Formats: sequence, C-alpha cells, structure tokens
Amino acid sequence: MRECMHLLEDSGHGAYLVGGCLRDCLREKTPADWDIATTALPDRMIADIGERVRILPTGKKHGTLTFLGTEISVEVTTMRKDGAYTDHRRPDTVDFTTSLTDDLARRDFTVNAMAYNSREGLIDPFGGRDDLSARVLRCVGDPRLRFEEDALRILRLFRFASALGFTPEAKALAGAKERRDLLCAVSAERVSSELSKLIVGQDALTALRLMVSGGVLEAILPAFGPAIGFDQKSSYHDRTVDEHSFAALAFAPPVHDLRLALLLHDIGKPAVARVDENGRGHYKGHAGVGAKMAAKILRELRYPRKTAVHVEKLIALHQIKIPLDPAVIRQLIGDHGVGFVRDLMQVKRADNRAKSPICAPRREHYEKVGEMVEEIIASGDCLTLAELALKGDDLTAAGVPHGPRTGQILRELLKLVWSDPKQNNRDALFSQLKKIDLPDRQ
Ligand code: ATP
Ligand code: MG
Repeated sequence: MRECMHLLEDSGHGAYLVGGCLRDCLREKTPADWDIATTALPDRMIADIGERVRILPTGKKHGTLTFLGTEISVEVTTMRKDGAYTDHRRPDTVDFTTSLTDDLARRDFTVNAMAYNSREGLIDPFGGRDDLSARVLRCVGDPRLRFEEDALRILRLFRFASALGFTPEAKALAGAKERRDLLCAVSAERVSSELSKLIVGQDALTALRLMVSGGVLEAILPAFGPAIGFDQKSSYHDRTVDEHSFAALAFAPPVHDLRLALLLHDIGKPAVARVDENGRGHYKGHAGVGAKMAAKILRELRYPRKTAVHVEKLIALHQIKIPLDPAVIRQLIGDHGVGFVRDLMQVKRADNRAKSPICAPRREHYEKVGEMVEEIIASGDCLTLAELALKGDDLTAAGVPHGPRTGQILRELLKLVWSDPKQNNRDALFSQLKKIDLPDRQ
C-alpha cells in the first residue's frame, strides 16, 4: 500500500489513504481493504506507472483501478465529485475533481471521510477524528439528503453501528426513519450483504433494536414485521418475539449462519399463534412454518443456496427435543453430520439462554447434551454407514440379494451400533445379521 502511494507520488500525483482503511488504522484495527484517492486520472496512472505495477481496470470509467501487489491489492480511485442522484442509489454523473474536500464530502460518515498521507498528515474537514474518539456515526452533511441520494447509506449506518460499536447521531437515526421508504431502491444483494455484516458485528443487538425503532428492519424484512412487539403470553418467555430473537442472536458466537438462523428462528410464531382459555400462547408448528418463511426471505434476498438450505434446516429443527441419550445423539450426528449438529446445539443453547429464568433446567440440559455431542465426536465411534464394519458387498456375500432391502438392513445394523458402538466389528455384525428377519435370503 505504501509502495502504491510512493509510485503515485514519485510520478507527481497526489495520493491519500481514504475511507474505511484509514478509519480502521486510526482504531488500530487491520483494514478489510485498502483505498487510495489520487489526483491522477486513470489513463495517466496507467501511462505513468503501468509498467511498474500490475493494474486491473476495475472501474476505469468511474476512476477506479486495482493495483495488484504481492500480498494485497489496493483500489486507487481518481478524486471524484458526485453529480445529482435520481434513483436513490447511484449518482447520475461522476466528475473527477482536484479538490480533496469535494471527494471527502461525497462520503457517507465523518469517520469514513478523512484522508492521510505522510506529507500532509491527517486531512479531516468534517471532524471525523473527534467522532472516532467519541465513537459516533455522523453523516457528512444533512442525513436526510444523504440518505435520499443513496438509500444504501441507511443500512451502512446500522451496519457500522453494529460492526464498530459506534452510536449513530440522533439526526442520522431520524433521517433513516424518515427515508426508509427509499430502501426499496436498494438491490437484494446489497441488502443481504449489509444485513450479513450487521448480524456478526460486536453490537448487533443494539443495531437491530435501533433498526426496529426506525422502522428499517421491517422495511427490509417485511415478514419480520408481525414479530415486532409480539407478546408471547408464555411463562417460558419474558421477551417479545423480536427481542427474544435478537437476544438469542447476541448469545451466539459471531458466526454468520448461526446468527441468521437465530434472527429468523421464531418468525413463524405470529402466524401459528393460538391463545388458550387461560390466556396462554401456543405455537405448535412454528419451527416448520418459520423455516419455510425464512427460506423464502433468503431466496428473495439472493443468499447463496447453501446458506439458505443450512439456515432453513436449523430453523426447522430448532425445537426438536434431544434427550441425554448417547444412542439418540449418535443417530442425530449420523443423520445430519457433525457440522450441522454442532450448529444446532449452538442454536438451541442461544435460544434457551434468551428465554425466561424458569427455563434454566432446560438450559442446563442442553449444556449437557452439547457436552455429550462433543464426547461422541471425540470418541471416534461409528456414526455413519460409511464407518460401519459391514458393507453392502458383505451382505451380498452372505446371501442377501442386492436391492432396497440391503440398505434397510445396513441401516438396522447401524442403529444397533448407535446403541452399542462396540458392536461395530464384522463378527458381531454378522451374528446380528443372522437375527434380522431376512425373507429374501436365497
Ligand atoms: P469496510 O470495513 O466494510 O470495508 P468501508 O468504510 O471501507 O468499510 P467500503 O464499502 O469499502 O466501506 O467503502 C470505502 C469508502 O467509500 C467508505 O469508507 C466511504 O468513505 C465511501 N463509501 C462507500 N460506500 C458509500 C456510500 N454508499 N455512500 C457514500 N460513501 C461511501
Ligand atoms: Mg473498505
């Protein structure tokens, strides 16, 4: 990155570290990516230094080139001034400028609107340094107008609140609330990308609450609307569905799919709610209904299929009862795989932690189940057909005709092994085979 700056400076161009990377350097964190703003036009850069560094014309028309270094790549963008915005997402025109202040003025938040180079030091026309120290997210300019220009900034506000643990200024929150109707101009991919970064942030709980109070969460996830403020009328719950979901999310480690599943795990509750004669709420079937709703949301938000399938399954199974029984747990792992069961345990643990204190025994139960899951994984016991000491060929050799019954028998043997892993050897399984009813034996 320094090398890129030097190459530009040695060719007589201004070069500044800008945006999130500078913000992160000042916070003493490692930046996710590096951005440099320069006075040089793209063609000038290619002509002047194209022979000394590999350059990709990433967004050349808009002034952005990627300099490929040995270890990192750096986005180098000619200083710009945005024209008018009419689609609430992108400026209609972008003009190159020689004014660094103009380039910084088009940026979203003051903490993202500073520049630095070793000759001029920190250039901070909007007070970003102070806001960084005070941990405040303040828009550059009038929030209402900035969100109107580009509604994605609304989501960036909450994403940064979560990821950095900073507090959005009141004016920015008010502006986000006022302009939330424009979020429909933001593409599904952008919405999901911001939501994904938000849920794994250090302050996801606060950010989600702020989104709810600004009506922003409902604007991007309309199906979550009925969960907001939904009183569960249950002694197991001392939180509304939205608050319970956020608390559960925050109890889980910052692993994307786990947190996404927890955000949506009870989304089916309002749809299936039934209140009995004693005024108690019942939510039979909410896991299955919620899983389907989540699958639809994730499809619409264009999440990768793998993520959607995993999250849907976690939600569908989040209510299953798992006894402290090694045979049942071995079967669960055998059927769903180690990774899925570990994730399911995390989901159940976080879900139970977010319930009322009377659920403490259930919580303790699942802590023990979690420990047993790990013990079983560590034991190396046979859990799947692939690990079973008898194979299909062994059955054929023993006179079982090849066909669907082979699979059934192997599964029966596997069940025996789940109950008693010591049985997983050829002798024991052959003698068990004799006991199994084999009408097809020739
Ligand atoms: P991250 O840590 O996610 O990379 P970042 O602040 O670097 O955060 P980028 O999306 O990499 O975010 O953008 C780099 C910089 O470009 C930002 O810091 C900000 O100055 C500016 N920027 C990005 N998107 C917008 C936007 N929608 N409106 C205004 N400025 C933006
Ligand atoms: Mg960045």
